[in-house]
Amino acid sequence: MFEKILIANRGEIALRINRACHEMGIRTLAVHSTADADAMHVRLADEAICIGPAAARDSYLNQQAILSAATISNADAIHPGYGFLSENAEFVSKVEEHGFVFIGPSAQHIRLMGDKIAAKKAVQDVGIPVVPGSAGAVSGLDEARAVAAEIGYPVLIKASAGGGGRGMKAANNAGELDAAYQTAVSEAVASFGNGEVYMERYLARPRHIEFQILADHHGNVVHLGERDCSLQRRHQKVIEESPSPALNATERARIGHIAAAAVRKIGYHSVGTVEFLYENGEFFFIEMNTRLQVEHPVTEAITRLDLVREMIRVASGAPLGYSQDDIPFNGHAIECRINAENPDTFLPSPGTIGDYHPPGGLGVRVDSALYSGYKVPSHYDSMIAKLIVLGSNRNECLMRLKRALGEYVIDGLETSIPLHQKLVAAPDFVNGDYDIHWLEKFVGLKEDG
Ligand code: ADP
Repeated sequence: MFEKILIANRGEIALRINRACHEMGIRTLAVHSTADADAMHVRLADEAICIGPAAARDSYLNQQAILSAATISNADAIHPGYGFLSENAEFVSKVEEHGFVFIGPSAQHIRLMGDKIAAKKAVQDVGIPVVPGSAGAVSGLDEARAVAAEIGYPVLIKASAGGGGRGMKAANNAGELDAAYQTAVSEAVASFGNGEVYMERYLARPRHIEFQILADHHGNVVHLGERDCSLQRRHQKVIEESPSPALNATERARIGHIAAAAVRKIGYHSVGTVEFLYENGEFFFIEMNTRLQVEHPVTEAITRLDLVREMIRVASGAPLGYSQDDIPFNGHAIECRINAENPDTFLPSPGTIGDYHPPGGLGVRVDSALYSGYKVPSHYDSMIAKLIVLGSNRNECLMRLKRALGEYVIDGLETSIPLHQKLVAAPDFVNGDYDIHWLEKFVGLKEDG
């Protein structure tokens, strides 16, 4: 097992990884920007090294500085968390060339799944159903028109290198296609330096349902059930829950088995998430994320497995030691992503935390690096906390979630807690009757607004 792990991230996820390491008796090395010198992940790690100025490209994305920190402090392995370098195949190769273990999948699998066109082909070849669309990249307006005519409107134009909902544009009819195509391409160039796009049928009322996969280096693969992440704003998840109110145990076992078998066939290891859209009883693959997800705690709540611990064990070469039948699914869990933003306008609200009181009690988990007096920097993502609640059933979970949201005190800046309070009290949400467009209609926003 590793003796020291470098945590190449910040905020709640750096703390989350720090916790798993300490419970395993592993020492931790925090790396941080100058803006994060007072951050909780820096205080709670065993060692800390400043790797650069506030801007992420100079610090948390600075590969050379991170590798130097690992070398100087004699770390054995690097955990990337999510975001930043977590899905950067080039970084994974460099980590390995320097003699460290990357706690995540291989560079080859990250590269494959990072190219969404190649990923779609690869999973289709191993039995996963995909959204009907173009056979590969669509190069030019003429081809886009032909593809749209074939798959039928509405269509979605998506960046091959996409992520975070960028480079994605819908066209409802032929009149909208040219503008949508051009916007998608220029957004893809601006965000990813790669203008390659492909097309899919735009599903009208799907749910976003993703399966958590865990695989070791010895061919053992299990699925840990699904997460329903249909509550989204601008293609970004806001609330996630497991199990999905739309699935029964038979469907879960069927599609979970297909996803796990596919992952085994491609020789993948570590955690991974196979994302689907689910409409009228049918699943359609959209992408596979080759990292730990923000929403992993809802899966931990209902399976009682520590996913970060499992990632570390797998990276050290240990076998899973259990099989699919050993995985329990108990209770119901919901996560609210709490952002430092105005709950009505969604504009970021950086500032200094005044009074701080996180909720607690049975079944309540708060993953956050906040503390009273902490100054939330404006340089990074606006998510400041995750509230995860477990109940023995969905109703108990909802009652507990309402109670916990009401207890949460974060003074000094605006947060999305009032939005979450409205969402979890909405009759459609309480009835589990929602799809990926529901939240934007609820808050009165246009889809691409
Ligand atoms: P990204 O990598 O940018 O997150 P995804 O392919 O995972 O892109 O899609 C993100 C979200 O966009 C999905 O959760 C869903 O809400 C929406 N989406 C993606 N593909 C489609 C589609 N074919 N039809 C309707 N909505 C889609």
